[in-house]
Amino acid sequence: MNITCDQCKETFTASPDQTTFISDSQKKGMRFIMLECLSCYSSFSLNPMTMEQPIPKKTADEDGLRCPCNSCYGLLSYVDDSKPFWGCGECGTVWFSKADLFQSITNSIEKYPYRAKVYTKKGNNFHPVPLENEPENYEDVVAQEKTDSK
Ligand SMILES: [Zn+2]
Ligand SMILES: [Zn+2]
Repeated sequence: MNITCDQCKETFTASPDQTTFISDSQKKGMRFIMLECLSCYSSFSLNPMTMEQPIPKKTADEDGLRCPCNSCYGLLSYVDDSKPFWGCGECGTVWFSKADLFQSITNSIEKYPYRAKVYTKKGNNFHPVPLENEPENYEDVVAQEKTDSK
């Protein structure tokens, strides 16, 4: 499977892991995943349904928010698709409105109060804290959460 990197525009052959990840996400109907380029090692987003790059709008304030889903610590990106959405490239969850996204974050903090440490709230908006301000073990702690129905 050949993939073109969004960052360096090189085409590379997907690793076996990436091929599995892509076909799994196609089965789940995911619209957005993150892949690492085997040529320049930057990560870029891909819509597994079309195998094309969604165009993330790089200026969205919500970019880099931690995913509020159980056991997922993926980073969210705003994707300016025909129907814009916020998506997690790790678990494939998408939100079509900021209100829904912020509601999910609020719920996750109520359930797991330590999750509040990776967000700063300005007015009604959540912003990501800089990575270096996150608790060091954030990813380990989150990985231990139980996955359950959303
Ligand atoms: Zn690249
Ligand atoms: Zn996620």
